[in-house]
Amino acid sequence: MKKLVVIALGGNAIKQAHEKGTVEEQFANVAETCDQLVQMNAMGYKMIITHGNGPQAGNLLIQQEEANTLVPAQPMDVVGSMTQGQIGYMFQNTLQNYFMQKGKNIPITTVVTQVLVKEDDPDFEDPSKPVGPFYTKDEALRLKEEKSYVVKEVKPNAEKSWRRVVPSPEPFEIVESNCVQALVEARAIIIASGGGGIPVMKNKDGTLEGLEAVIDKDKAGNVLAQSVNADIYLILTDVENARINYGKPDEKPLGKITVQEAEKYLEEGHFLAGSMGPKVTAAIRFVKAGGKKSIITSLSNAVNALEGKSGTIIVK
Ligand code: ADP
Ligand code: MG
Repeated sequence: MKKLVVIALGGNAIKQAHEKGTVEEQFANVAETCDQLVQMNAMGYKMIITHGNGPQAGNLLIQQEEANTLVPAQPMDVVGSMTQGQIGYMFQNTLQNYFMQKGKNIPITTVVTQVLVKEDDPDFEDPSKPVGPFYTKDEALRLKEEKSYVVKEVKPNAEKSWRRVVPSPEPFEIVESNCVQALVEARAIIIASGGGGIPVMKNKDGTLEGLEAVIDKDKAGNVLAQSVNADIYLILTDVENARINYGKPDEKPLGKITVQEAEKYLEEGHFLAGSMGPKVTAAIRFVKAGGKKSIITSLSNAVNALEGKSGTIIVK
């Protein structure tokens, strides 16, 4: 049986930190990322790809704000869906062109994905996730007044030190998981749950409603991986390993570790909350729910790590 791997791509897979995010830059990064993906395909893995959307959603939010005297601004759930289409398209196009040149016929598609969250998630009380551009205090307070944004000072002493913050609730269910499953069975390469999925809550009458919130893409990727019984959850970022004593002189990369060890390090606070923390949390959840292994490594080490030769590998 071919193994099913869910691959969570970090921001650097689509846009490098120093880049503006032009279409040429993004396609060039996606092409490099796809080099890794086609190698995994050649190794015989069935693949579902998920990805972050921070920079793309940030830019689209600016477009909503700046052009709203010309055309109506769209809310965050709709912006999230736009980025799923945008990034999904870049991967579809790049992979399709590659396989076409190799004479291979592999179906590749993107699933616009909603992810169910709970209305009583504590993050709705005290939003934690900064989104969009930085503002001066005056600009931030004006947006709070005009648009009821929750704004916070996130970079004290900078000229523009304020940002909008939105809730980052825990993901519970992939609404389109049956569709993703059907596509796995049809042997497609699938891009799903981009940007952590579009957060939706269930109303009393059972209808779903989009929310102005952002789900962590690594945590949503785990829910996706569990929902399709994936064998491996592969989280690709810009570092080769999760490290303990991060930033200290006795810093040390983690290789193959058990879930118990990972939980202990997580509790001891070795992984930063907005970056490595959710990756390790998601990796632990996947293995605890019955997945064979989770891997955290850099994009360029993906293939090595699948062969057990590098990265942080979490097993039962
Ligand atoms: P992505 O876009 O891939 O989600 P993030 O910036 O969210 O990227 O997470 C990767 C970053 O996590 C690394 O670049 C590193 O700066 C940071 N990080 C925080 N804690 C650790 C740790 N304990 N070990 C390794 N990297 C860590
Ligand atoms: Mg991240």
